[in-house]
Amino acid sequence: MPALDTAALLHWPAEKLEGGYVAHSQLDELRKLSPERAMLIESIEMNWSTPDVSDAQSAAIATGDLPRLSNVDLEIIAIAIQTGEKLFTDDYSIQNVCRKLGHPFEAVSNRKSEQLWAWELKCIGCKSTRKVETSEEMDCKICGSPMKVKRVRV
Ligand SMILES: [Zn+2]
Repeated sequence: MPALDTAALLHWPAEKLEGGYVAHSQLDELRKLSPERAMLIESIEMNWSTPDVSDAQSAAIATGDLPRLSNVDLEIIAIAIQTGEKLFTDDYSIQNVCRKLGHPFEAVSNRKSEQLWAWELKCIGCKSTRKVETSEEMDCKICGSPMKVKRVRV
């Protein structure tokens, strides 16, 4: 059975969800998005867990996707890694981290992204680049100009 992100929990029919791997934190997320759907999901037999996210987090730091991922996102990536199951997700940052890890994934509804990319900060002045580690934009250490986040192919 696959690991499922919250988009799958919202849109897939109950029969298709049965036995899927999910994080406890997704249920809280789902309750906010759709209480009816959350009740339905609770009535289905699924594999719930609360995983350790450290490996998922390191991979997200390596690609620069960390600022774009919630803790729920990291947990679902962690579950996919730990179970070795394919992850269904429409989130391009989650897909990107899976690709970095060489972990199989598939889109819930949208087309899946084709290319591995990374996020980097690029100085608008001297064009120097550095790794993205937090969601904050910062000034260039070389020339003092602002740095902007850019998506780059790797
Ligand atoms: Zn600069």
